[in-house]
Amino acid sequence: MEERNYRKRRRSSAWTVITIVVILFAIGLLLWGGIEPKDRKEMEIKVHSVLQTMSSQETPMPQETPTEIPIPWNLIIVNREHPIPEDWKVEPVELHNGQTVDARIYDPLMEMFEAARSINLDRLPNVESGYRSEEKQQQLYDEKRKEFLQQGYAESDATALTEKWVSVPGTSEHQLGIAVDISGEVYDIYAWLQENSYKYGFILRYTADKTAITGVAPEEWHYRYVGVEASTEIYQQGLCLEEYLDRLRNPHQSERS
Ligand SMILES: [Zn+2]
Repeated sequence: MEERNYRKRRRSSAWTVITIVVILFAIGLLLWGGIEPKDRKEMEIKVHSVLQTMSSQETPMPQETPTEIPIPWNLIIVNREHPIPEDWKVEPVELHNGQTVDARIYDPLMEMFEAARSINLDRLPNVESGYRSEEKQQQLYDEKRKEFLQQGYAESDATALTEKWVSVPGTSEHQLGIAVDISGEVYDIYAWLQENSYKYGFILRYTADKTAITGVAPEEWHYRYVGVEASTEIYQQGLCLEEYLDRLRNPHQSERS
């Protein structure tokens, strides 16, 4: 019983609302009819501008931006497109042969060299080239270019050839102090490094299959410190540093691919 009464009441209140709406609409039409066409135009413009203001105050759609992860020092990318940041600081530590490396990679480098000792005629491998200042890199670049010019190459060809072999100053990983060119007593040292360097946080930076991405010809002696987490993934997945960083920035993309 009670429910039926309730329904009745609901139905009658719905009718009241409809009636009021119809009456208001009729009044509106009458008023509209009484308005001069000129004023109507003005009203339309006003309504339009009010609507526009309302829509412009709406919360903007959130835009999709790539994930900006702060890149730690060990993952910094330096190549032709990414010169060394001006605030990059190196704390050079001298090795026994006078070469220097940044203090942050000294311990892992020595650990790796100690581990390599047994396949290197019981001697520690060497760092042929460690940290380079901007001036040093410039000097290497100029010397190489001079060589090509002396061989008779035209200016532009000499420049192009030089840049195949020596990084443009400001774009060499050696200026970071966390990359090294390694030599050993035996050639096998390179095979050993390729298979074991990742355990110490180092990667073979420029491989033949990634030249198109890195922009650098293969260098089997050039090792770059990235930390054990990154080096392990880079080694196991067969990536280069650029690819690894792309995956870090776009995790969803790499899940799909
Ligand atoms: Zn190098």
